Amino acid sequence: MKSWDVIIAGAGIVGVSLALELSERGASVLVLDRGEPGSEASSAAAGMLAPADPETPIPLRPLAMESARMFPAFAQKLEAAGKIQVDFRRVGTIAFLTDAAAPKDYRSLSPTELQRIEPSLHTAGYSAFFVQEDSVDPYLLTQAALAAARNLAIEVRGHMAVKEIRGHDSAVEVLTEGDTLTAASVVDCRGAWFGAPVRPRKGQMFYVQPLSGVLQHVLRAPEVYIVPRSSGKILIGATVEDVGFDKSVNPSVIQQLRSEAAKFVPALSSAEITQSWAGLRPGTPDDLPILGPTDVAGVFAATGHFRNGILLAPVTAHILANLVAGRPSPIDIRAFSPDRFRQHPEVRPGA
Ligand SMILES: Cc1cc2nc3c(=O)[nH]c(=O)nc-3n(C[C@H](O)[C@H](O)[C@H](O)COP(=O)(O)OP(=O)(O)OC[C@H]3O[C@@H](n4cnc5c(N)ncnc54)[C@H](O)[C@@H]3O)c2cc1C
Repeated sequence: MKSWDVIIAGAGIVGVSLALELSERGASVLVLDRGEPGSEASSAAAGMLAPADPETPIPLRPLAMESARMFPAFAQKLEAAGKIQVDFRRVGTIAFLTDAAAPKDYRSLSPTELQRIEPSLHTAGYSAFFVQEDSVDPYLLTQAALAAARNLAIEVRGHMAVKEIRGHDSAVEVLTEGDTLTAASVVDCRGAWFGAPVRPRKGQMFYVQPLSGVLQHVLRAPEVYIVPRSSGKILIGATVEDVGFDKSVNPSVIQQLRSEAAKFVPALSSAEITQSWAGLRPGTPDDLPILGPTDVAGVFAATGHFRNGILLAPVTAHILANLVAGRPSPIDIRAFSPDRFRQHPEVRPGA
């Protein structure tokens, strides 16, 4: 019976980035997905790479900063190996906040500066700050990662759900509908479908195609964010909802987001909506990812990336590739241990 060095459950950006890193290090890898690979949260995201956002939890900052540092090379690697451009942009973000809410390292923008760099923006009563951060098109990034995997002969099997992962002698068995597969190690990257304590946090958003040149920077405000792509499309998002595995789109929610966006960019109020969708972020009770060995020997978890899974993909791949090889994590990941929910049962969902 064929066996692999590593089987990865879940072909989102987390699972596929890890497969690429493991394969680069010489491991044989199989990636399994219950649906179409890459079609869940990783393709539904906005693609802001925002390690210093006030909503990024403090314990996550070192990991997020390191991943932001790794991102340019990561994007370049996927573009080269996948032969797909991912629209990695380094223009920066304009954050609209109250002065009290602004982090110390955000640079305040005077009205004249704001007018010079984004002439069509209104401040809607907030203060404007410049943040040097990047963005990427997550759909293209995920497609590039999958194409890179294909080009490097990494096996990615879609429409093959993992039913159970269990230890067996010194190996790990992965049960699917029709097969039992074995590997030395398994990494569970099933995103929102990982099971407790991970739960889906729905986000709705949409693209508009406005008249060209309306916005160059990412714009982030308390109730809305706006992410321009190089193609001229502009993304507007997003809700954070606790409604289970529902991915329906509610037109009145989309209109609400549009009117929030139009407070800052009035041209968006009449722009044609070209696409709307919802995705399921993998949320955890403490908003931190789950990274590391589980209580089954040879089985690791890499999930719970919530609002930052695109940003965190390169650092997650790097950490998990080390752990699978029996090496220590290059970064302190104790705060993300799968054990923490067992040790602190009071933070379990519903508690
Ligand atoms: C609206 C929205 C906006 C976002 N904006 C940003 C952003 O600006 N910046 C950022 O960094 N992040 C953002 N995110 C978060 C980011 O999208 C996620 O954290 C990230 O995509 C998680 O990646 P993943 O690979 O773990 O999950 P997914 O992409 O969901 O992949 C998990 C995969 O596991 C598969 N799976 C499930 N069950 C099984 C099974 N039993 N067997 C096999 N496979 C299975 C699924 O089919 C899926 O393909 C956003 C998310 C949403 C929804």
